[in-house]
Amino acid sequence: MSDNNRPEQKTNLSELYEEAGHWHVNTGGETIHAKRIGGRFRRLKWMTSSIWLLFFLGPYVRWGERQAILYDIPNRQFHFFGLTVLPQDVWMLALVLLFLAIVLIGVTVIAGRVFCGFFCFQTAWTDVFTWIEDKLEGPPAKRRKLDKAPWDAAKIRIKFTKHLLWLLIAVVTGVSFAGWFTDIYQLWYDFFTIQAHPAAWVTLGLFIAGTYILAGFMREQVCFWLCPYSRIQGVMYEPETILPTYDVKRGEPRGRLKKGASVEDGEFGDCVDCNLCVAVCPTGVDIRNGQQEGCITCGLCIDACDRVMDKVNRPHGLIRYASLDEIEGKPKIPLFKRPKVLVSLAIISAALLGIIYGVVNISGIELKVLHDRQPLFVLQSDGSIQNRYEIKVLNKTSQDIHVELTAEGPAGLKITGAEKAFVAPKGNISAYTVFVRVPKENLAGERVPLIFRVSAQEQSDLNTEYESMFFGPRR
Ligand code: SF4
Ligand code: SF4
Repeated sequence: MSDNNRPEQKTNLSELYEEAGHWHVNTGGETIHAKRIGGRFRRLKWMTSSIWLLFFLGPYVRWGERQAILYDIPNRQFHFFGLTVLPQDVWMLALVLLFLAIVLIGVTVIAGRVFCGFFCFQTAWTDVFTWIEDKLEGPPAKRRKLDKAPWDAAKIRIKFTKHLLWLLIAVVTGVSFAGWFTDIYQLWYDFFTIQAHPAAWVTLGLFIAGTYILAGFMREQVCFWLCPYSRIQGVMYEPETILPTYDVKRGEPRGRLKKGASVEDGEFGDCVDCNLCVAVCPTGVDIRNGQQEGCITCGLCIDACDRVMDKVNRPHGLIRYASLDEIEGKPKIPLFKRPKVLVSLAIISAALLGIIYGVVNISGIELKVLHDRQPLFVLQSDGSIQNRYEIKVLNKTSQDIHVELTAEGPAGLKITGAEKAFVAPKGNISAYTVFVRVPKENLAGERVPLIFRVSAQEQSDLNTEYESMFFGPRR
């Protein structure tokens, strides 16, 4: 917004200053009661945090007779709609984790801790918990007053309602988490009928207590003291990293506006020292003191300061997303010339290609063939040569299937032991023994290639093959 478009200045900032008098920088010794105000980053935070609705709703989505996404730990299977990943395919999971980790690093190098500010479960849950607190107890000044007030019926009612709502959210969070590992409908039933498995109770207990304590009481202290990312991500910053930054040149010397005075009088810089940026900060950081480890890059101080700039008829952006280089007036370095960004991009691309390859090529059925070496071959009375094989079929689907075995090799090849289709139980390996006979005169050498193929009767596209060898006497 240009200066000409500024709304008319509200010269009386005394209300703001009066409120600012109650605000303190977070030293960890007291509960942060951050002021909630609207703005574009506030809206953005709600939108990005709402991605966690998937966490709550995901377990209820069905795929056939089971949950669409299920980490089935007892059976060591991961179901993702029609895809079943068994421990044999765990490399794909490793690639997904690598992909996510490097995305996090790449994003941090470019835009700081935006994950913390806009996506992290700790800040998202804390935001909801403090929103409830704000609705029930009122704005920060009222909340502090209530905290200090003696216990009476009104205080008990308000505090009881707040903690009840917090606990309800914690319970739903706990059940939703456990619901990714077991059938959630059954879990709710077991929960209400007190029949859940002990492991489920332990998981629920830990998650309920964890959510209640971390989001309700510890809040920003988790970001300060418990979360490893606050330290790891900090070292990834570069002078080009875009972060919420206070424009010192423009803001200083800061000073409170006297009644009737205007910033344009030129006595001070643009910062009117109202402390609103500190008051709205969920971690209690004063961004005017420079970057600090407590800053989760949420941009709420930008909303606050823009609002103040509107009041004093100055342009937005005294606090804005900017790099150190930009603030110091240095030329901008393009993303593709920043080594950390390029390395992150290369690893992300490689991991993504690996994941795509895995998803495209992952088969619902796997075949392994072991050739029996004792004896390597047997000469039959009819002059044919016989080899013995152990066939192992891994059925990764969620249904029992019947598999037919065929083989391709020297002319006149016959398989015995595979006349009927094998039953391959779901999610399991089944082993069978078969014999292959080849007329001696049809063998071109001491060892010749032999390809085994299996296909499911129920689903013709469910098939795979394995290349083995057929052995005969020395020539
Ligand atoms: S300083 Fe600003 S961006 Fe950083 S955590 Fe506080 S409000 Fe969010
Ligand atoms: S930076 Fe902006 S919000 Fe913070 S004290 Fe100065 S004028 Fe107020």
